[in-house]
Amino acid sequence: MDNREIIVIIGCDADSDYNPKGNRVHKDENIWDGIEIGIPKLKEIFNSLVQTRNDPYPNLTWLLRSDKQMDLLYNDYAYPVNHFLDVWRSLNKDGDEIGWHPHMWDWDDIHKQWYPRLDDTKWTNECLDAGYKAISKHFRPTSCRTGWDFQSNNIFRKLVEFRIKVDFSGLPGQKQILYQDSPIPHLYDWKTTTEKFYFPSKTDYRICSTSKECLDILEMPLSLTPVPPLQAFVKFVHHNLRHNLNQPISKPVIAYNFTRTEIMRIAKHPKLFKRGVDKKFKDSRIRNSTEYIITYFHPNELLRNDLFSISNFETNLKYISDMSDKHGIPYRFLTATQAAEDYLARACQNEIILDQH
Ligand SMILES: [Zn+2]
Repeated sequence: MDNREIIVIIGCDADSDYNPKGNRVHKDENIWDGIEIGIPKLKEIFNSLVQTRNDPYPNLTWLLRSDKQMDLLYNDYAYPVNHFLDVWRSLNKDGDEIGWHPHMWDWDDIHKQWYPRLDDTKWTNECLDAGYKAISKHFRPTSCRTGWDFQSNNIFRKLVEFRIKVDFSGLPGQKQILYQDSPIPHLYDWKTTTEKFYFPSKTDYRICSTSKECLDILEMPLSLTPVPPLQAFVKFVHHNLRHNLNQPISKPVIAYNFTRTEIMRIAKHPKLFKRGVDKKFKDSRIRNSTEYIITYFHPNELLRNDLFSISNFETNLKYISDMSDKHGIPYRFLTATQAAEDYLARACQNEIILDQH
C-alpha cells in the first residue's frame, strides 16, 4: 500500500508589525500594516497559484492576539480580533482556521519598556483567562501558538482547560535563555523535544509521558530544515555574540544552544526552506509514510524584502508543488486542528490494525 504523502500546515502569528514604544497606541500610529496590506496580497498570490498552476489552495491557521498587552494598548484584550473581524470572518468562511496567539508581554513602567512576564503564574493565568474569554466572543479557538514559543506545564494545563486541541509552539531541540541570573530561566525551552507529535507529560511539557499522566492536547512541533555544519557554527557564534552585546561584559552567556537544524519558516529565504522540503519528500519515499511540514510566518514578513518576504513565501509554495510532481508524492494543506484530527484518526486506525494481528 502506498502511504506516501506530505501534509502542510501553515500558521500565522498575527502580531502587530512592531511593539509600540509606549504603553498606549496613539491615534496616528498604525502597527497593523502586515494584516491590512499583507494579507490581501497573500490571498492574491494564492488565487493566482490555483488558477495558473492548478495548485491546491493553501488554507491557513490564523493565530490571533488576545491578551493583556492588547488590553494595555487598546483597552480591549481582543483588539485585533474585533478591529479586523471582517477579515477573519471572511478567511474563516473560505476554510481557514482561527486559533489563538497569546503573548505574555507586560509594561515595565520604571524602564518604560515591554518585557516578557513569564515567571508569575497568577499574572499568566489572568492574562490567559481574560484573553480566551475575549476571543471566544467571536471564535472558539482549538489551536494555539504561544508568544516566543514559550510554554510551561501551567500554560499547557490552562490550554486543556479551554479545550484547545492542538499546540504547535514546539521548537525541537532549541532553547534560549534571556540573560544570566535572570528571574526567568528561559525564553523558551524545547531542548528535549523532537519533531514527533505527542501528548505532553503533565510534569514536563517538552516530552510525552509513557504513563497516563499526559495532557489531552496534541503537540505538533514545528518542522526542521537541515543546516550545513559551518553555517550552523557561524549562526551559533553570531547569535550569541549579538546577544552578549546587551549583557554586562563581566557576565557573558551562551544564550542559544548549538543545533544543526533550524525551524522551517515559509517566508524565509528558499535556500533554507528547500532543504527541509527535500528531506520531507525523501523521508516519505524511504519510509512509505505521511510526513508533515509545519511552518509559520508573521504578517509583517509579507511587507519585508530581506531574508523574509512574500516572494519567498510564493517560491517556497511552488517548490513544494514542484517536488510533489517530481517525486510523484501527493501533498495537501490542512489547518492545525484538521491535521491533529487526521493524525489521531490514523493513529487509531493503526491501533485497530495492530490489535487484529
Ligand atoms: Zn508573537
